Amino acid sequence: MTDQAARRPLIAGNWKMNGLKAEGMALTDAVLAGVRGGAWRCELLVCPPATLLPLIGDRLKGSPVRLGAQDCHQKPSGAHTGDIAAPMLADVGCRFVIVGHSERRADHNESDALVKAKAEAAMAANLVPILCIGETLAVRDRGDALSVVAAQLAASLPAGAGADKLVVAYEPVWAIGTGRTPTAADIGAMHQALRAELKRHLGAESDRMRILYGGSVKGSNAAEILAVDGVDGALVGGASLKAEEFLTIARACA
Ligand code: PEP
Repeated sequence: MTDQAARRPLIAGNWKMNGLKAEGMALTDAVLAGVRGGAWRCELLVCPPATLLPLIGDRLKGSPVRLGAQDCHQKPSGAHTGDIAAPMLADVGCRFVIVGHSERRADHNESDALVKAKAEAAMAANLVPILCIGETLAVRDRGDALSVVAAQLAASLPAGAGADKLVVAYEPVWAIGTGRTPTAADIGAMHQALRAELKRHLGAESDRMRILYGGSVKGSNAAEILAVDGVDGALVGGASLKAEEFLTIARACA
């Protein structure tokens, strides 16, 4: 038995490679203005580009909105020009870090083994990795989505994962940034399959672990997607760049 009520929904905004200082601060301020005074059922998170993390982290201090990063290196330090280590992210106030996003898997050839190592590095730095997995359209069309994504989860699941230490995000690659989403039934079936896979690896501990949906979530479809059994929140790309859209999604958690 899983207990969805025991899992606080997480609404996470992935800003991707968007935002100079002024835009990032304006977006943050607009989100904070909307959040103020409300009692939020969900946990709120923004993941700005790395250049803005310290600035936005300072602005979020004392607010209920958490700070996260979009990627980390698998090593804690060393000769890796241009990369950012998980302890550095923790040092500037991050609580979460996205790992294995399909854009990184595609653009940087990230494998499941590398994503697993990144998630383990994040956990070692007391960050919660948001582990992204999801099928391509070809896999969905040939009817293999459930087994392929479950295998991807198994191969990238960090050692030592626990309910408070890891978030899983199911993001069909073909739904990211396209305006297309799976049916509610398909999302529900995938979340059920992923929870069964988590249970196989982690036992009862997995009952409290959050599994988010991501892929073209916006204000107008959030309520339907978040109402799907087993969906514990959303990872939001494009719509997180507009404060009012992001807040509408967060309100849909209620
Ligand atoms: C994402 O990048 O994780 C994402 C879900 O993007 P979008 O919401 O724009 O589809």
